[in-house]
Order: sequence, then C-alpha cells, then structure tokens
Amino acid sequence: MDLDIKDLIKFFIDEDNIILRSYNTGCQFCGSENNKIYYKDKFVCESCIEKLRA
Ligand SMILES: [Zn+2]
Repeated sequence: MDLDIKDLIKFFIDEDNIILRSYNTGCQFCGSENNKIYYKDKFVCESCIEKLRA
C-alpha cells in the first residue's frame, strides 16, 4: 500500500491542471464523505491526510 500512496501523492500534487472525470465532493482518494478537508480544489478525508503525511 505504501507504493500506491506515494503514487497518489505525486498524482495529487501534479494534478493541478487536470480535471478528473470522477471528481465529486467525496474524498479524492477513498470517496469518504467524512471529515473532508478541501485542498487544491480537491477534498481529502482526514484518514487519507494522515496517510499522505506518513
Ligand atoms: Zn479518504
């Protein structure tokens, strides 16, 4: 899972100019609606933020 998360981080950071077709108001990574944080035009839930910081 570590590799996947690092790939997601890179994607997440580099993705500024890309509009995701699957974009919605859920967490960008897991789709959770809980404890979302808005970051660079995306929503990320707290649990994914914790993973990104790990
Ligand atoms: Zn999430």
